[in-house]
Amino acid sequence: MVQTDCIFCRIIAGKLPAMMVHQDDLCVAFRDINPQAPVHLLVVPREHFASLDEATPERRELLGHLLLTAARVANAEGLTEKGGGYRTVINTGAGVGQSVFHLHVHVLGGRPMGWPPG
Ligand code: 5GP
Ligand code: ZN
Repeated sequence: MVQTDCIFCRIIAGKLPAMMVHQDDLCVAFRDINPQAPVHLLVVPREHFASLDEATPERRELLGHLLLTAARVANAEGLTEKGGGYRTVINTGAGVGQSVFHLHVHVLGGRPMGWPPG
């Protein structure tokens, strides 16, 4: 269900602008407004749910689709394994940095990255 107070629901509904790179029946992908790497995309399901903690078995197919889409948009940006690779991140909970409570997969690339993340 669309949540009118959710920033990503508003983007998906076309009520807030975003630099879209992918749209399909189940999800969209757009550029992060505050990029943490030369390429920083967000893959976002059209269905509103807060986080991976709400990843029920009924959402199995959708969750797989989000990862497939993450790989697809990363490759479209040239971030193949040979092109430097990319990192996918799902923050779950404010304590680890989640700030928008509509599940999303970060896709980051275009620069070297350390491990472990901070
Ligand atoms: P989180 O901190 O929840 O893992 O990630 C939320 C991300 O959404 C942040 O990287 C933040 O920069 C991005 N973000 C927040 N508001 C907007 C917005 O209005 N438009 C876009 N494109 N990204 C946003
Ligand atoms: Zn939402």
